Amino acid sequence: MSQSSTLKFCIAVLMFASTVAAQEMPASQPPIWSAKPDIAAFEKIENEHLDAAQRAIDAVTAVKGSRTIENTLAPYDEAVRQLNTAIYFSTLMQQVHPDVSFRDHATAMTTKASGRQTELSLNGDVYRALSTLDVSKADSATRYYVQRQLLEFRLAGVDKDSDTRAKLKSLQDRLTQAQSTFDRNISDDVKTVEVASVSELDGMPQDYIDNHKPGADGKVRLTTNYPDLFPAMKFAKNGDLRRRLWDAFNTRAYPKNRDVLLEMMRTRYQIATLLGYHSWADYNAADKMIGTGSNVAKFIADLDAASQPTAKREFAMLLTEKRKADPQATEIADWEAFRLLEQVRRSQYDFDSQAVRPYLPYNEVKQGIMSTAATLFHISFQQEPNVPAWEPSVETWDVFDGAKMMGRFYLDMHPRAGKYSHAQMAPVLDGIRGKQLPEAILVCNFPEPTATDPGLMDYGDVTTFFHEFGHLMHHILGGQQPWAGIAGISMESDFIEAPSQMLEEWMQRPQVLATFARHYKTGEPIPAELVARMNRADAFGRAGEVSVQNALSAISYDIYKENPDKVDLDAIAPNDFRHHTQFTPDNADAYMYASFNHLAGYSSAYYTYMWDKVIAEDFFQQFDQTNPLLGEAPMRYRHVVLEPGGSMSANDLVKNFLGRPQNTAAFQKWMEVEFQPTSHATVQGK
Ligand SMILES: [Zn+2]
Repeated sequence: MSQSSTLKFCIAVLMFASTVAAQEMPASQPPIWSAKPDIAAFEKIENEHLDAAQRAIDAVTAVKGSRTIENTLAPYDEAVRQLNTAIYFSTLMQQVHPDVSFRDHATAMTTKASGRQTELSLNGDVYRALSTLDVSKADSATRYYVQRQLLEFRLAGVDKDSDTRAKLKSLQDRLTQAQSTFDRNISDDVKTVEVASVSELDGMPQDYIDNHKPGADGKVRLTTNYPDLFPAMKFAKNGDLRRRLWDAFNTRAYPKNRDVLLEMMRTRYQIATLLGYHSWADYNAADKMIGTGSNVAKFIADLDAASQPTAKREFAMLLTEKRKADPQATEIADWEAFRLLEQVRRSQYDFDSQAVRPYLPYNEVKQGIMSTAATLFHISFQQEPNVPAWEPSVETWDVFDGAKMMGRFYLDMHPRAGKYSHAQMAPVLDGIRGKQLPEAILVCNFPEPTATDPGLMDYGDVTTFFHEFGHLMHHILGGQQPWAGIAGISMESDFIEAPSQMLEEWMQRPQVLATFARHYKTGEPIPAELVARMNRADAFGRAGEVSVQNALSAISYDIYKENPDKVDLDAIAPNDFRHHTQFTPDNADAYMYASFNHLAGYSSAYYTYMWDKVIAEDFFQQFDQTNPLLGEAPMRYRHVVLEPGGSMSANDLVKNFLGRPQNTAAFQKWMEVEFQPTSHATVQGK
């Protein structure tokens, strides 16, 4: 168990105010690839966006008389829209364009456009222009937008004197440098573990053994990359091999990254204190739902209380399994847990993940995901035929609310050389009411069906597909606000995963799966009994996984919660693993911080994953538990949570939907599913 969790990582006004939005949208707009740009045309399009952004910024600062929303906020938001459009397009091209030289030019363009965005975020004249704007008579979305932009400007230090700003700038540059060194040291340090002969791979699946042929010296080499590491941690009978792999994995980038991390900690502490915060954890929480560093500590403690009882029951089952081979055992090392979990899943839950794949051919899954979303959100989709794209397999779809077009999305779903290799939703255009339809894309790597191969998907891929489709729906349904800067998933970053994590629940319901998951040979719908067994097997180990995630949240917080001079870096991970999990940390765990890549980007905010999972499960309880496609909850959710986009605080989105702030009760129930004979995971004839 590690940070590469199975949990998905790769967003008070009048409740129904935004339903009028669709009436005012533009009828349509040309798809992004209509101009079929080559590199020169692409760069021309991009530079035009950057020039337009600059003209808009100049318009903000040129105002002489009194400031109004029209002469100040409108051009400011136009600059935001133009910069976002440029960055969305260049980032997309660097990820998906089939031509390597196009991708390289796109990467350079992303750097240029991001530089412009950073300049705007540090522009003192623009800050002063917005801060003198009277918004007291504006609508609540506009007031919230301005207040939030001002907070972001202050967090960047724009309101400080010039010496402080110069110091902040040099600290930021140093931090950016250290972050990229930290990441590069991790990706550069792939370690290898040797085993004397193939016979030491006993227990591994045959295709794994076939893919790891011995070298000329007869030895087999396994790397610390995930496709080598995790199957071995789960299936290899040889405990010594598993422990050696785990130690190699946990000492990647050590000792190199020790100093790099200390540099990041000191630099961040200086930034935070220059801006008047007690610690980096406090500073980093200031523009998030959680608000303060001490709330992170409180959340971790709450989650401990919610997960420990179930985690202990799971631990007892794992220990019973371990005692079959080692009757005196009283402890389980963290590296042993992977295999024991698999053994218990197989022996207690009788589930083989291969049994589900024949029901999940790509084309039927795609139709099923789209029709599930259409039913849930009361919208429809229409494919636009013959739209040009960078790759022939890319599909273009329009989203309709009744007869009105409300957005567009693109599907680039199958692997090819040089393409981004994970799964993600990316915005393409921010929706602005009456001005611009929202557009987004899914970039995924699912199997491609051919004349002879239906492209069978793993169940986990189906969940990922709907998860990412949920981000896409959020961007489009939230794209009806009056400003680009509050469109779609522009809210606090610790809310963005909650809606998509919630949607994963739909893919576990037999009633939902049966509408599209049919055996590719017989056409038989997936048996409800198979879904129930799959869900129970999947649920086993949840509380233990949560406890590991909680330990990682604690590590990320403890590293940044105070003056780095007071932090004993090598003691943090072993202490937090001991405190939050049932498993015994291994010696090498002390150095796992060196390869914990979230410490660079997320820094103290690793808690986000569990925070959003808690919200997701709490939200889900509002839906019909027998068939969550039914009832009034889906439309209420669309109006209250998704359509506001970033026009109010995410804490208000949660309160408006639940009638109260989120709590861990539903999350606790979710962890206990494996022990609940009548839980939603079983069929019960419903
Ligand atoms: Zn996500």
